[in-house]
Amino acid sequence: MHANHPERSAELGAYHHDEIMSCTRCPLHATRTQAVPGSGNLNAQVVFVGEAPGYHEDRLGVPFVGQAGKLLDQLLEGIGLARDDVFITNVLKCRPPENRDPLPAEIAACRDHLFRQVQIIRPRLICTLGNFATKLLSGRPDGISRVHGCELEISLGGTPTVLYPLYHPAAALYMPTMRSVLQEDFARIPGLISGAEAAPSPAAAPPEPTRTPDGDGPRTDVAVSSDPPPPGVRPATQLDLF
Ligand code: URA
Repeated sequence: MHANHPERSAELGAYHHDEIMSCTRCPLHATRTQAVPGSGNLNAQVVFVGEAPGYHEDRLGVPFVGQAGKLLDQLLEGIGLARDDVFITNVLKCRPPENRDPLPAEIAACRDHLFRQVQIIRPRLICTLGNFATKLLSGRPDGISRVHGCELEISLGGTPTVLYPLYHPAAALYMPTMRSVLQEDFARIPGLISGAEAAPSPAAAPPEPTRTPDGDGPRTDVAVSSDPPPPGVRPATQLDLF
């Protein structure tokens, strides 16, 4: 399920330690217990991106350890995967007070951490959990109810990958009928992993994501690829069909 790239593990570990754990790019650093960079397999072919750490994640320093995390574990188990097979992170690395929604300025301040993680891990598939991660990484305003289960080829900071939007597991905690939708969408993940092509070698990719001059304008670092899709991957225009 994953090749071993010790150099990626070392680079990501150093990035987490040096850049995320001590980050003061937004005011959330003042209220956090600790930053939560992410956890799992640093050589994973699949990265899951949630919204932000909650109370338990902030205490433990590990993403998705509450009720939503338990459901995520079950959904992974349902497709033969464990946490150790994937890498799990969030749009925001620090807990917003009272678990409120991430603010645009916080997302703008934190997004380079996520882009760098993706650049280092070079996953075949990025599963976004819920609206915040999906809108950030697709660069599109389409809500999750419109795009869940529809894969999209993207280039993230020069790294081509496949984006696969999913409902946030917390949605199924409030709306039990959502669980079967999540299970159906999760069921396609193994096929997307095996069908999607590996990202090309780092030499082909620019080292840093491009940004707008003020760092807060429209995304220029997420591009919809015009290359033909790899086997099993629907073309990017898929999202426009709904
Ligand atoms: N826990 C996380 O780490 N992220 C979420 O989005 C929800 C719960």
